[in-house]
Amino acid sequence: MTTEQDHKDQHNGLDGVQATLERLGVAGNVDWLAVVLFARNLVSSMDLFSEEQKAQLQAKIFEQMGKRPLNNKRFQHIVQIIQHFLLDNPKMADLRSQLVNERQGYASLYEEMGKVFADIQQSTEARESHIQRMGEDTEKGITAAESRAEVVSRLRGMVTEMVSQARAEARTWQERATQLEHTANFDSLLSELYSRRALDAQLSVVLERCRKTNTPVSLLFIDVDRFKDVNDTFGHQTGDGVLRVLAAILSAHSMQFKGYAARFGGEELLILCEGLSEAEAMVRAEEIRQDVARCPFVPHLTGAENTAPLHITVSIGVAQMRPGQSTADLIMAADQAMYAGKTQGRNRVVGHSSLAAYRPL
Ligand code: GH3
Ligand code: MG
Ligand code: MG
Repeated sequence: MTTEQDHKDQHNGLDGVQATLERLGVAGNVDWLAVVLFARNLVSSMDLFSEEQKAQLQAKIFEQMGKRPLNNKRFQHIVQIIQHFLLDNPKMADLRSQLVNERQGYASLYEEMGKVFADIQQSTEARESHIQRMGEDTEKGITAAESRAEVVSRLRGMVTEMVSQARAEARTWQERATQLEHTANFDSLLSELYSRRALDAQLSVVLERCRKTNTPVSLLFIDVDRFKDVNDTFGHQTGDGVLRVLAAILSAHSMQFKGYAARFGGEELLILCEGLSEAEAMVRAEEIRQDVARCPFVPHLTGAENTAPLHITVSIGVAQMRPGQSTADLIMAADQAMYAGKTQGRNRVVGHSSLAAYRPL
């Protein structure tokens, strides 16, 4: 509800800003107006950071504003303080590492494609010059040959060489194509899991196919429990290692039921289960949950025998595609079920249909 008092307060607020600017001797200066507004209002609305962190940032800005002269140099200094605050913050580091990972996926694909194009060009040029050389050699060979049989034998030798070269090249190209396909479709950190990009395409294809053939299809939404604690205690690299081992477990399981295991983002992994109803997929999810809970992670990562094992657990949401659902609806349903698993105490498998049962009619 907006009252007259609210309007007055807002007015006073702006008057307050004007008064501050005048007191600082920078009235009418847009840069300093931005700094004051940022320090007063924006800092407090940055939900990502704790109150203590925000208070520290505000204090640093106000400290600078208390100094003289308030010129462009000081303004730039304040901008730098804000930038450092944003960039050096652990929360931002998490976001940045996710971004870096995403970017790495694209960068390696881009780099690999660049190399392939360069190689195609080089191999075309090499082949052209090879063919030209062979033409010249053939001509020389024919003129130098003393008999028809010798001409035939020389030509046969050249053709054999050309064919075996072409074969070797074809094999190399086949390998390159497979490698390129892998980079395009698999996650850059968890190389056993399909990438988000590949998953999106696969979801559309599979859902459409299952709709037509009236085959059930379900989705497992797997989220590591309290994964932030793993990073905070053992460091981000160990966290990455934990994710790799987890990816191997998921990949081994999903192979058994021809599932499509992918990284949805961060520590959230999905398995698309074509041909499985929710009840059947829940059985598979339960097997995965138990296997993960049993797995001693740290010795796996370090190879050290004396290291105390680190156990992690996962919460898994399971949903079956319903008629008329989009791919996004299916993901959301599995996510909701996973989230219910978190609120029920984590380390459990929850089916989406069990949630619907609690909904009021
Ligand atoms: P819960 O899901 O049980 O509620 O708790 P959580 O601590 O796992 O949940 P939250 O979503 O708060 O934190 C997820 C953490 O996962 C935050 C981020 O640091 C970490 N994370 C995401 N992606 C990666 C990654 O690629 N590597 C590492 N090491 N950590 C990651
Ligand atoms: Mg999560
Ligand atoms: Mg989690």
